[in-house]
Amino acid sequence: MTTVGFIGLGIMGSPMAAHLVNAGHEVIGFDVVPESLTALTEAGGKAASNVAEAVTGAEVVITMLPNHPHVESVVLGDDGVLQNAKDGILLVDMSTIRPESSLAIAEAAKAKGIRVLDAPVSGGEAGAKNAALSIMVGGDAADFEAAKPLFDVLGKTVVHVGPHGAGQVVKAANQLVVGGTYALVAEAIVLLEASGVDAKTGLDVLAGGLAASRILDLKRESMVARQFQPGFRIDLHHKDMGIALAAARQADVSLPVTGLIAQLVAAARAMGHGSLDHSALLKVTEQLSGRG
Ligand code: NAD
Repeated sequence: MTTVGFIGLGIMGSPMAAHLVNAGHEVIGFDVVPESLTALTEAGGKAASNVAEAVTGAEVVITMLPNHPHVESVVLGDDGVLQNAKDGILLVDMSTIRPESSLAIAEAAKAKGIRVLDAPVSGGEAGAKNAALSIMVGGDAADFEAAKPLFDVLGKTVVHVGPHGAGQVVKAANQLVVGGTYALVAEAIVLLEASGVDAKTGLDVLAGGLAASRILDLKRESMVARQFQPGFRIDLHHKDMGIALAAARQADVSLPVTGLIAQLVAAARAMGHGSLDHSALLKVTEQLSGRG
Protein backbone atom coordinates (compact mmCIF):
# COMPACT_ATOMS: atom_id res chain seq x y z
CA MET A 1 0.00 0.00 0.00
CA THR A 2 1.30 3.43 -0.95
CA THR A 3 0.23 6.80 0.45
CA VAL A 4 -0.56 8.95 -2.57
CA GLY A 5 -1.16 12.71 -2.62
CA PHE A 6 -3.33 13.41 -5.68
CA ILE A 7 -3.65 16.99 -6.95
CA GLY A 8 -6.20 17.81 -9.67
CA LEU A 9 -9.41 15.79 -9.58
CA GLY A 10 -11.13 16.85 -12.78
CA ILE A 11 -12.49 14.72 -15.62
CA MET A 12 -9.39 12.51 -15.61
CA GLY A 13 -8.00 12.81 -12.09
CA SER A 14 -11.23 11.99 -10.31
CA PRO A 15 -11.71 8.44 -11.66
CA MET A 16 -7.94 7.79 -11.57
CA ALA A 17 -7.74 8.65 -7.86
CA ALA A 18 -10.77 6.45 -7.13
CA HIS A 19 -9.08 3.48 -8.88
CA LEU A 20 -6.02 3.89 -6.65
CA VAL A 21 -8.24 3.82 -3.55
CA ASN A 22 -10.03 0.72 -4.83
CA ALA A 23 -6.64 -0.95 -5.36
CA GLY A 24 -5.91 -0.50 -1.65
CA HIS A 25 -3.80 2.67 -1.63
CA GLU A 26 -4.32 5.54 0.75
CA VAL A 27 -5.17 8.57 -1.39
CA ILE A 28 -5.34 12.14 -0.10
CA GLY A 29 -6.67 14.46 -2.80
CA PHE A 30 -6.80 18.18 -3.37
CA ASP A 31 -8.54 20.30 -6.00
CA VAL A 32 -9.27 24.03 -6.03
CA VAL A 33 -12.90 23.14 -6.80
CA PRO A 34 -14.06 21.36 -3.60
CA GLU A 35 -16.94 19.50 -5.35
CA SER A 36 -14.30 17.71 -7.43
CA LEU A 37 -13.32 15.74 -4.32
CA THR A 38 -16.70 14.03 -3.96
CA ALA A 39 -15.93 10.96 -6.10
CA LEU A 40 -12.67 10.42 -4.19
CA THR A 41 -14.25 10.62 -0.72
CA GLU A 42 -17.16 8.42 -1.84
CA ALA A 43 -14.60 5.82 -2.96
CA GLY A 44 -12.95 5.95 0.49
CA GLY A 45 -10.17 8.48 -0.12
CA LYS A 46 -9.46 11.58 1.96
CA ALA A 47 -10.00 15.21 1.02
CA ALA A 48 -7.27 17.75 1.81
CA SER A 49 -7.90 21.47 2.01
CA ASN A 50 -4.64 22.48 0.34
CA VAL A 51 -1.62 21.08 -1.49
CA ALA A 52 0.52 20.92 1.66
CA GLU A 53 -2.03 18.78 3.48
CA ALA A 54 -2.28 16.39 0.53
CA VAL A 55 1.46 15.84 0.13
CA THR A 56 3.02 16.08 3.63
CA GLY A 57 2.68 12.38 4.43
CA ALA A 58 2.77 11.09 0.86
CA GLU A 59 5.26 8.62 -0.61
CA VAL A 60 4.09 9.39 -4.13
CA VAL A 61 2.49 12.63 -5.37
CA ILE A 62 0.46 12.58 -8.59
CA THR A 63 -0.57 15.77 -10.39
CA MET A 64 -3.31 15.79 -13.05
CA LEU A 65 -3.73 19.49 -13.86
CA PRO A 66 -4.75 21.43 -16.97
CA ASN A 67 -1.47 22.99 -18.12
CA HIS A 68 2.09 23.95 -17.19
CA PRO A 69 1.26 27.12 -15.19
CA HIS A 70 -0.97 25.03 -12.89
CA VAL A 71 1.68 22.32 -12.50
CA GLU A 72 4.41 24.90 -11.89
CA SER A 73 2.39 26.69 -9.23
CA VAL A 74 1.35 23.45 -7.48
CA VAL A 75 4.87 21.97 -7.58
CA LEU A 76 7.18 24.99 -7.34
CA GLY A 77 4.91 27.50 -5.55
CA ASP A 78 5.40 28.75 -1.98
CA ASP A 79 2.92 26.28 -0.50
CA GLY A 80 3.64 23.66 -3.13
CA VAL A 81 4.84 20.08 -3.40
CA LEU A 82 8.59 20.76 -3.19
CA GLN A 83 8.15 22.87 -0.04
CA ASN A 84 6.01 20.32 1.76
CA ALA A 85 6.74 16.80 0.57
CA LYS A 86 9.28 14.54 2.28
CA ASP A 87 12.74 14.13 0.73
CA GLY A 88 13.07 11.24 -1.69
CA ILE A 89 9.39 10.98 -2.63
CA LEU A 90 8.33 10.32 -6.19
CA LEU A 91 6.45 13.09 -8.03
CA VAL A 92 4.50 11.83 -11.04
CA ASP A 93 3.06 14.54 -13.27
CA MET A 94 0.37 12.96 -15.46
CA SER A 95 -0.82 16.28 -16.95
CA THR A 96 -0.08 17.12 -20.59
CA ILE A 97 2.40 20.01 -20.53
CA ARG A 98 5.37 21.34 -22.56
CA PRO A 99 8.40 19.02 -22.47
CA GLU A 100 10.64 21.90 -21.33
CA SER A 101 8.42 22.47 -18.28
CA SER A 102 8.76 18.79 -17.35
CA LEU A 103 12.54 19.14 -17.62
CA ALA A 104 12.58 22.30 -15.48
CA ILE A 105 10.40 20.66 -12.81
CA ALA A 106 12.64 17.57 -12.71
CA GLU A 107 15.69 19.81 -12.30
CA ALA A 108 14.13 21.88 -9.49
CA ALA A 109 12.94 18.74 -7.71
CA LYS A 110 16.36 17.07 -7.97
CA ALA A 111 17.84 19.93 -5.96
CA LYS A 112 15.35 18.99 -3.20
CA GLY A 113 16.00 15.23 -3.43
CA ILE A 114 12.63 14.53 -5.04
CA ARG A 115 12.43 12.15 -8.01
CA VAL A 116 10.16 13.07 -10.94
CA LEU A 117 8.45 11.30 -13.83
CA ASP A 118 6.46 12.93 -16.63
CA ALA A 119 3.65 10.46 -17.34
CA PRO A 120 0.98 11.94 -19.60
CA VAL A 121 -1.87 9.69 -20.65
CA SER A 122 -4.04 8.92 -23.63
CA GLY A 123 -7.41 7.20 -23.73
CA GLY A 124 -9.70 10.02 -22.71
CA GLU A 125 -12.37 10.06 -20.05
CA ALA A 126 -13.43 6.51 -20.98
CA GLY A 127 -9.84 5.29 -20.56
CA ALA A 128 -9.63 6.95 -17.14
CA LYS A 129 -12.97 5.52 -16.00
CA ASN A 130 -12.17 2.01 -17.27
CA ALA A 131 -8.56 2.04 -16.00
CA ALA A 132 -7.49 1.46 -19.60
CA LEU A 133 -5.22 4.46 -20.20
CA SER A 134 -2.05 4.45 -22.28
CA ILE A 135 0.67 5.96 -20.11
CA MET A 136 3.90 7.29 -21.68
CA VAL A 137 6.60 7.85 -19.11
CA GLY A 138 9.74 9.99 -19.19
CA GLY A 139 12.42 9.88 -16.47
CA ASP A 140 14.83 7.44 -14.85
CA ALA A 141 14.22 3.72 -15.42
CA ALA A 142 14.44 2.92 -11.68
CA ASP A 143 11.79 5.52 -10.88
CA PHE A 144 9.58 4.12 -13.64
CA GLU A 145 9.87 0.65 -12.09
CA ALA A 146 8.99 2.09 -8.67
CA ALA A 147 5.84 3.75 -10.06
CA LYS A 148 4.83 0.86 -12.35
CA PRO A 149 2.48 -0.84 -9.82
CA LEU A 150 0.49 2.42 -9.58
CA PHE A 151 0.49 2.92 -13.35
CA ASP A 152 -0.79 -0.65 -13.78
CA VAL A 153 -3.84 0.27 -11.68
CA LEU A 154 -4.65 3.15 -14.05
CA GLY A 155 -3.70 1.89 -17.48
CA LYS A 156 -3.33 -1.03 -19.86
CA THR A 157 -0.39 0.22 -21.96
CA VAL A 158 2.38 1.52 -19.71
CA VAL A 159 5.70 2.29 -21.40
CA HIS A 160 8.94 3.96 -20.33
CA VAL A 161 9.74 6.01 -23.44
CA GLY A 162 12.95 7.82 -22.44
CA PRO A 163 14.44 10.50 -20.17
CA HIS A 164 12.64 13.50 -18.59
CA GLY A 165 10.34 15.19 -21.13
CA ALA A 166 10.16 12.15 -23.46
CA GLY A 167 6.70 11.25 -22.16
CA GLN A 168 5.47 14.71 -23.13
CA VAL A 169 6.99 14.45 -26.63
CA VAL A 170 5.19 11.12 -27.18
CA LYS A 171 1.98 12.73 -25.94
CA ALA A 172 2.44 15.64 -28.40
CA ALA A 173 2.76 13.08 -31.21
CA ASN A 174 -0.39 11.37 -29.92
CA GLN A 175 -2.35 14.62 -29.91
CA LEU A 176 -1.49 15.57 -33.47
CA VAL A 177 -2.66 12.13 -34.65
CA VAL A 178 -5.87 12.41 -32.60
CA GLY A 179 -6.58 15.95 -33.87
CA GLY A 180 -5.93 14.93 -37.47
CA THR A 181 -8.18 11.89 -37.18
CA TYR A 182 -11.04 13.98 -35.77
CA ALA A 183 -10.60 16.53 -38.57
CA LEU A 184 -10.85 13.81 -41.22
CA VAL A 185 -13.79 12.02 -39.60
CA ALA A 186 -15.53 15.42 -39.53
CA GLU A 187 -14.83 15.88 -43.26
CA ALA A 188 -16.17 12.38 -43.96
CA ILE A 189 -19.42 13.22 -42.13
CA VAL A 190 -19.85 16.51 -44.02
CA LEU A 191 -19.20 14.78 -47.36
CA LEU A 192 -21.59 11.91 -46.64
CA GLU A 193 -24.42 14.13 -45.43
CA ALA A 194 -24.03 16.70 -48.24
CA SER A 195 -24.16 13.83 -50.75
CA GLY A 196 -27.38 12.47 -49.29
CA VAL A 197 -25.74 9.33 -47.86
CA ASP A 198 -26.61 8.29 -44.29
CA ALA A 199 -23.53 9.25 -42.27
CA LYS A 200 -23.96 6.60 -39.59
CA THR A 201 -24.22 3.83 -42.17
CA GLY A 202 -21.24 5.19 -44.07
CA LEU A 203 -19.05 5.45 -40.97
CA ASP A 204 -20.05 1.94 -39.88
CA VAL A 205 -18.43 0.69 -43.10
CA LEU A 206 -15.32 2.83 -42.59
CA ALA A 207 -14.95 1.44 -39.06
CA GLY A 208 -14.64 -2.07 -40.47
CA GLY A 209 -11.99 -1.30 -43.08
CA LEU A 210 -8.56 0.28 -43.40
CA ALA A 211 -9.94 3.60 -42.11
CA ALA A 212 -10.84 1.98 -38.77
CA SER A 213 -9.70 3.83 -35.67
CA ARG A 214 -10.45 4.12 -31.95
CA ILE A 215 -12.01 7.50 -32.70
CA LEU A 216 -14.40 5.97 -35.23
CA ASP A 217 -15.18 3.20 -32.74
CA LEU A 218 -15.85 5.46 -29.77
CA LYS A 219 -17.10 8.70 -31.28
CA ARG A 220 -18.82 8.19 -34.62
CA GLU A 221 -22.29 7.89 -33.15
CA SER A 222 -22.00 10.91 -30.87
CA MET A 223 -20.50 13.00 -33.69
CA VAL A 224 -23.31 12.13 -36.12
CA ALA A 225 -25.80 12.91 -33.31
CA ARG A 226 -23.97 16.23 -32.62
CA GLN A 227 -23.39 15.37 -28.95
CA PHE A 228 -20.35 17.33 -27.90
CA GLN A 229 -20.30 17.29 -24.09
CA PRO A 230 -16.66 16.75 -22.97
CA GLY A 231 -14.71 14.35 -22.79
CA PHE A 232 -11.66 16.26 -23.80
CA ARG A 233 -12.25 19.96 -24.20
CA ILE A 234 -11.32 21.94 -27.32
CA ASP A 235 -9.48 24.38 -24.99
CA LEU A 236 -7.18 21.55 -23.85
CA HIS A 237 -6.61 20.30 -27.40
CA HIS A 238 -5.74 23.87 -28.44
CA LYS A 239 -3.12 23.83 -25.67
CA ASP A 240 -1.82 20.46 -26.92
CA MET A 241 -1.52 21.61 -30.55
CA GLY A 242 0.59 24.51 -29.25
CA ILE A 243 2.80 22.00 -27.44
CA ALA A 244 3.13 19.89 -30.61
CA LEU A 245 4.11 22.88 -32.76
CA ALA A 246 6.60 24.10 -30.14
CA ALA A 247 8.11 20.61 -29.92
CA ALA A 248 8.43 20.55 -33.73
CA ARG A 249 10.27 23.87 -33.66
CA GLN A 250 12.53 22.60 -30.89
CA ALA A 251 13.33 19.49 -32.97
CA ASP A 252 13.87 21.58 -36.15
CA VAL A 253 11.24 19.75 -38.17
CA SER A 254 8.34 20.87 -40.35
CA LEU A 255 4.92 19.36 -39.61
CA PRO A 256 2.57 21.02 -42.13
CA VAL A 257 -0.53 18.91 -41.44
CA THR A 258 -0.11 19.52 -37.70
CA GLY A 259 -0.05 23.25 -38.47
CA LEU A 260 -3.34 22.97 -40.34
CA ILE A 261 -5.00 20.96 -37.56
CA ALA A 262 -3.80 23.52 -35.02
CA GLN A 263 -5.59 26.23 -37.03
CA LEU A 264 -8.82 24.21 -37.19
CA VAL A 265 -8.72 23.67 -33.43
CA ALA A 266 -8.00 27.39 -32.95
CA ALA A 267 -11.02 28.16 -35.15
CA ALA A 268 -13.24 25.95 -33.00
CA ARG A 269 -12.09 27.88 -29.95
CA ALA A 270 -12.54 31.25 -31.63
CA MET A 271 -16.08 30.24 -32.60
CA GLY A 272 -16.84 29.80 -28.89
CA HIS A 273 -16.62 26.01 -28.72
CA GLY A 274 -13.70 25.83 -26.25
CA SER A 275 -15.73 24.01 -23.59
CA LEU A 276 -17.08 21.40 -25.98
CA ASP A 277 -15.52 18.02 -26.70
CA HIS A 278 -12.77 18.02 -29.35
CA SER A 279 -15.09 16.07 -31.65
CA ALA A 280 -16.79 19.49 -32.05
CA LEU A 281 -14.17 20.10 -34.76
CA LEU A 282 -17.11 18.92 -36.89
CA LYS A 283 -18.73 22.31 -36.27
CA VAL A 284 -15.76 24.06 -37.92
CA THR A 285 -15.80 21.71 -40.91
CA GLU A 286 -19.53 22.26 -41.36
CA GLN A 287 -19.15 26.02 -41.13
CA LEU A 288 -16.48 25.97 -43.87
CA SER A 289 -19.07 24.47 -46.22
CA GLY A 290 -21.83 26.83 -45.10
CA ARG A 291 -23.63 23.99 -43.35
CA GLY A 292 -23.17 25.06 -39.70
P1 NAD B 1 -10.00 19.17 -15.97
O1 NAD B 1 -10.01 20.62 -16.23
O2 NAD B 1 -11.29 18.40 -15.97
O3 NAD B 1 -9.28 18.85 -14.55
C1 NAD B 1 -8.23 19.60 -14.03
C2 NAD B 1 -8.49 19.80 -12.54
O4 NAD B 1 -7.41 20.52 -11.97
C3 NAD B 1 -9.76 20.62 -12.28
O5 NAD B 1 -10.64 19.91 -11.40
C4 NAD B 1 -9.23 21.90 -11.63
O6 NAD B 1 -10.12 22.46 -10.66
C5 NAD B 1 -7.94 21.41 -11.00
N1 NAD B 1 -6.98 22.46 -10.72
C6 NAD B 1 -6.60 23.49 -11.50
N2 NAD B 1 -5.66 24.23 -10.89
C7 NAD B 1 -5.45 23.63 -9.69
C8 NAD B 1 -4.58 23.93 -8.60
N3 NAD B 1 -3.77 24.99 -8.62
N4 NAD B 1 -4.61 23.11 -7.52
C9 NAD B 1 -5.45 22.04 -7.48
N5 NAD B 1 -6.29 21.72 -8.49
C10 NAD B 1 -6.28 22.51 -9.57
O7 NAD B 1 -8.99 18.54 -17.01
P2 NAD B 1 -8.82 17.01 -17.43
O8 NAD B 1 -9.65 16.78 -18.65
O9 NAD B 1 -8.95 16.13 -16.24
O10 NAD B 1 -7.29 17.04 -17.92
C11 NAD B 1 -6.19 17.06 -17.01
C12 NAD B 1 -4.92 16.88 -17.83
O11 NAD B 1 -4.97 15.62 -18.51
C13 NAD B 1 -4.71 17.96 -18.90
O12 NAD B 1 -3.35 18.27 -19.01
C14 NAD B 1 -5.23 17.28 -20.16
O13 NAD B 1 -4.62 17.82 -21.33
C15 NAD B 1 -4.83 15.84 -19.91
N6 NAD B 1 -5.65 14.83 -20.59
C16 NAD B 1 -7.01 14.92 -20.62
C17 NAD B 1 -7.75 13.94 -21.28
C18 NAD B 1 -9.27 14.00 -21.38
O14 NAD B 1 -9.84 13.26 -22.20
N7 NAD B 1 -9.96 14.82 -20.60
C19 NAD B 1 -7.11 12.87 -21.90
C20 NAD B 1 -5.73 12.77 -21.82
C21 NAD B 1 -5.00 13.77 -21.16
